[in-house]
Amino acid sequence: MNDNSGRGVLVILSGPSGAGKSSVCTRLRREFDAEMSVSATTRPPRPGEVNGKDYWFLDREDFLSKAQTGYFAEHAEYCGHYYGTPLRPLQDALREGRVVLLEIEVEGARQIRERFPEAVSIFIAPPSAEEAVRRLEKRRQNTAQDIAKRTKQATIELERAKEYDYVVVNDNLGAAVAEVKDILTRERAKRLGAFSQ
Ligand code: ADP
Ligand code: 5GP
Repeated sequence: MNDNSGRGVLVILSGPSGAGKSSVCTRLRREFDAEMSVSATTRPPRPGEVNGKDYWFLDREDFLSKAQTGYFAEHAEYCGHYYGTPLRPLQDALREGRVVLLEIEVEGARQIRERFPEAVSIFIAPPSAEEAVRRLEKRRQNTAQDIAKRTKQATIELERAKEYDYVVVNDNLGAAVAEVKDILTRERAKRLGAFSQ
C-alpha cells in the first residue's frame, strides 16, 4: 500500500540505542516545530515514562490484535518487545502539513519507506560503539543485560545505515541537531516547491 502523506513532512530517525535519537528529537520538537508520533509498545515503562506521552503501553495481546486490524503504519519486534506507529494520528498530522518525527528501529523504517516513499530518513550514529555503551550506562535506564542485548542489536543496525537518505554522527549534540534542522529545512522547501525551476 502507498499512502499519500499530504503536505506534511514525514521524518524517520533511527540509530542504535545510545546514539542520541531521543535527545535530538526533544530538541527538534522545541526548536523546529516538529511533532513526535507516540508509538505503542509492549515493553514495560521506565521510571518517569508516562502512558500516552512517551509511549502507549499495551500488553502483547492488545498489541497483536491491533496489529491485525491495521491499526499500525508499521510495527516490529526489538529486543523481545513489540513497537508500532499508530496510523491514524500520523495521517491526520501529515494532512495538516505538520513535520512528524518517527523515532523507530530499522525494520519499521523499511516498512514506512515502502508505504510512504516520500518520507525522509535520517540515521543517527554514535561517534563509536564504545561511546554508545558509555552513554547507555550513564543514562542508567537499562539493566546490564538489556545494554548487552542493545549493543548486539547495534551491530545489525549500523550495517543498515546505508538504507537511509542521510547519516548524522551525534558527537556534539548541538552540531547534530543543527545538521538535522538543516536537512529538514531543505526537505520542507523541496516539498513546497521552493527549489523548483
Ligand atoms: P537514544 O534515544 O538513541 O537511545 P538518548 O538520546 O537517550 O539515546 O541518549 C543516550 C544518553 O546519551 C543520554 O543520557 C543522553 O543525555 C546522552 N547523549 C545524547 N547525545 C549526546 C552527546 N552528543 N554527547 C554526550 N552525551 C549524549
Ligand atoms: P526504547 O525501548 O529504547 O524506547 O526503544 C527501543 C527501539 O525501538 C529504539 O530503536 C526505538 O527507536 C524503537 N521504536 C520506538 N518506537 C517504535 C515504533 O513505533 N516502531 C518501531 N519499529 N520501532 C520503534
